[in-house]
Amino acid sequence: MLADKDRIFTNLYGLHDFGLEGALRRGNWDGTKAILEKGRDWIINEMKASGLRGRGGAGFSTGMKWSFMPKQSDGRPHYLVVNADESEPGTCKDREIMRNDPHTLIEGCLIASFAMGAHAAYIYIRGEYIFERKRLQAAIDQAYEARLIGKDNVHDYPFDLYLHHGAGAYICGEETALLESLEGKKGMPRLKPPFPANMGLYGCPTTVNNVESIAVAPTILRRGAAWFAAIGRPNNVGTKLFSLAGHVNTPCVVEEAMSIPFKELVEKHGGGIRGGWDNLLGIIPGGASCPVIPAEQCADLIMDFDGTRAVKSSFGTAGVLVMDKSTDIIKAIARISAFFKHESCGQCTPCREGTGWMWRVVNRMAEGRAQKREIDMLLEVTTQIEGHTICALGDAAAWPVQGLIRHYRHVIEERIDQYAANPHPDPVPVAAE
Ligand code: NAD
Ligand code: SF4
Repeated sequence: MLADKDRIFTNLYGLHDFGLEGALRRGNWDGTKAILEKGRDWIINEMKASGLRGRGGAGFSTGMKWSFMPKQSDGRPHYLVVNADESEPGTCKDREIMRNDPHTLIEGCLIASFAMGAHAAYIYIRGEYIFERKRLQAAIDQAYEARLIGKDNVHDYPFDLYLHHGAGAYICGEETALLESLEGKKGMPRLKPPFPANMGLYGCPTTVNNVESIAVAPTILRRGAAWFAAIGRPNNVGTKLFSLAGHVNTPCVVEEAMSIPFKELVEKHGGGIRGGWDNLLGIIPGGASCPVIPAEQCADLIMDFDGTRAVKSSFGTAGVLVMDKSTDIIKAIARISAFFKHESCGQCTPCREGTGWMWRVVNRMAEGRAQKREIDMLLEVTTQIEGHTICALGDAAAWPVQGLIRHYRHVIEERIDQYAANPHPDPVPVAAE
């Protein structure tokens, strides 16, 4: 459990002023210049030592990513791009930062940009986040007015910050599709390598980081890497924003210590499972792309990268979707399949064709209009998609279906038996695209 003194986001629920005055009272922008004076290498080494792993879902070391940026400029400008296109179903943590604690992010943008030799940063915010965009822009304007950022600022490091809003495509949250979109093109992922640190925005060295990863950086640097690294457990350290949604009594976003047991997270912040623990069916621990974890594996589940991996799932964005026994698990996964089919950019065949194929089969299975031999055939199709696509959307579409078959094969078989005993004349699609 996280002690109050270790909380980074002290206005997560918007109880206080989101603006500059409130932010200064909360300790943002305190000693920023002194941090910059310690130099680029010190900042990057401290971020590495903190053990912070990217909070957007993939968990790549943030300090390591910063260190990939060229030390010397070859004439091309360097850029920081903040991925605020928070679109993973079940995930709404960055939204709270941008609404209620926007100066944590703005200060983080300045410090991260300084560390990587960037004099401009772009925040790419999802189009639907209209209120958050207004709040964030108001906070950016305040920072300019107070000369905390800008060409001529009190930190003696020329720095401009631009807010760019997306237009509703999930794929624009993939870092290279985001860069394409920012350049004014259709948001389609690029092949990696080259990684953005070599060839990013406008062909220039670029680092793309999630909102939370950047917003925690100033506090880490003020309090020290050792403080952050002492929270959680090795390889899974620091504080973390969790979104708790679905069948808990009090859905919420909360900052907690990494590696908190799932039971504690739900009891302390989610008010328990609707209908009690015996009514739990399973959870999706980190956004729609993570395989479902059945109830029996939730009892001792540790909420972090290693804990979720131990049960063949992933930590993702820590957007936890809780499902009680009223959930039709096949329908739920069919709905997720419909989402990925709709959001596939269509550029590679396994994803374009495979997402539609999986959606149609899982949809039929939800009704029972399938044959049992199709279950293994479906599993085989997921393995043909996984790892064979340009970006992670193909994997993201395959994993929930794999989780369904791994843990709920018996439910699919029962549904098929029920339908065989009582076939419906007209098929009804259970999860439309
Ligand atoms: P990834 O593992 O390919 O990359 C993670 C980051 O590390 C990237 O920035 C990448 O450039 C960098 N990286 C990885 N290997 C590198 C190397 N060898 N050299 C230099 N840089 C390297 O994952 P990804 O495609 O960026 O992200 C996938 C994750 O995104 C999924 O796990 C999912 O949970 C998450 N996701 C989040 C949202 C959201 O709304 N926050 C939406 C969709 C997906
Ligand atoms: Fe597009 Fe899907 Fe290929 Fe990603 S995996 S590039 S979303 S077709």
